[in-house]
Amino acid sequence: MKNVVLLGSTGSIGTSTVKVAEDLPDQIRLIGLAAGGNSELLLEQTRKHKPAAISISNPAKAKELQDALGISTQVFSGNEGLLKLATMPEADIVLIAIVGTAGLQPALAAIRAGKDIAVASKEILVMAGEIVMNEARKYGVKVLAVDSEHSAIFQCLDGKPASSVRQLLLTASGGPFRDKTLWPKEKFSEITVERALKHPSWVMGRKITIDSATLFNKGLEMIEARWLFDIEMARVGVVVHPQSIVHSMVEFVDGSLLAQLSTPDMCLPIQYALTYPERSASERVQTNFPKIGTLTFEEPDVERFPAIELARRAGELGGTLPAVLNAANEVAVEAFVNRKINFPQITETVRRTMDAHKIVSQPTLEQILEADAWARKNSLNG
Ligand code: NDP
Repeated sequence: MKNVVLLGSTGSIGTSTVKVAEDLPDQIRLIGLAAGGNSELLLEQTRKHKPAAISISNPAKAKELQDALGISTQVFSGNEGLLKLATMPEADIVLIAIVGTAGLQPALAAIRAGKDIAVASKEILVMAGEIVMNEARKYGVKVLAVDSEHSAIFQCLDGKPASSVRQLLLTASGGPFRDKTLWPKEKFSEITVERALKHPSWVMGRKITIDSATLFNKGLEMIEARWLFDIEMARVGVVVHPQSIVHSMVEFVDGSLLAQLSTPDMCLPIQYALTYPERSASERVQTNFPKIGTLTFEEPDVERFPAIELARRAGELGGTLPAVLNAANEVAVEAFVNRKINFPQITETVRRTMDAHKIVSQPTLEQILEADAWARKNSLNG
């Protein structure tokens, strides 16, 4: 039985994780749940799964939850609540599925408390990948990937070192604007929020869905892969694969390629991260090749989607630049969703903010957080 703390239980990854726990009641016990604002769903999840402790951002909502639940469940709030949950003595693994950067400090706290972490929140590794991975090595804990692409690579690598790898190949669906004839660059300024939120293969949270439309999601994943698998950016490639069946591949030095395939369902990588190194039986994912028919691959269109090259630059130059890319992108996505900027301005905002940033090499956590705050303050001022 694994005792799991789930941060971000009310989101897309969070609710899929709850499903996985319900599929495997003899193997996974949810002992801690944390949410941002959705106290109704958190209450429902708590009544069903009876975790020892929960947390919600707003202290007033925490008080209401404590009144509703009585003393059987400890209720915390805010960032302090996330830290309490991440370090619960009974926890074996902490799955971090909080959108944005709020998961970084809890991830570090969990590692320092000797817990394995399962990372959905790619922002954590983009901002502070070197620090997180060094701490994990120091404390002897595992950092397991929840992102389907990184789970695929992890499964293909199967413990092989970076020296046996020619390149990691992340697959990308290409997003809703992949088709150049339907969506030439000149039409990008007409893209509405509603249209950008319609992803062709995956149902996900709002931020990552917009990131998939700009391809910043793939860019963030490239930097995430660089740290998770300790490999330089030059050996992290991207190939567009619209069917989203091949979740990513590893090309080894002898030219052999291994890939991991399945119909798209986040429950699969979540389950693997939580049951690793075992595989548990599940009927949830069924892949029918005759029905799928064709798998296709194409080069990413870096002219229409410059996010990939911006991320490559951030990953290569390193230091505080990936944190700046991440923060500027978060601000720009929020502004797009609130109809303050148009779709191409998301990428322009990130580029401008990156250009204006003075990179700090080998940054401390404090310097990374300063760069993050600087980018949030300055990204929309241009
Ligand atoms: P959602 O927007 O669906 O969910 C975000 C979750 O974070 C919600 O539970 C939300 O709570 C919670 N949250 C936000 N702020 C706080 C906070 N300050 N304290 C505690 N909880 C907070 O996002 P997704 O599930 O789609 O994505 C989560 C992360 O996983 C992202 O980093 C994303 O990039 C990554 N990811 C997502 C994939 C997907 O398929 N969705 C695939 C791979 C990675 P509430 O709803 O209660 O406000």
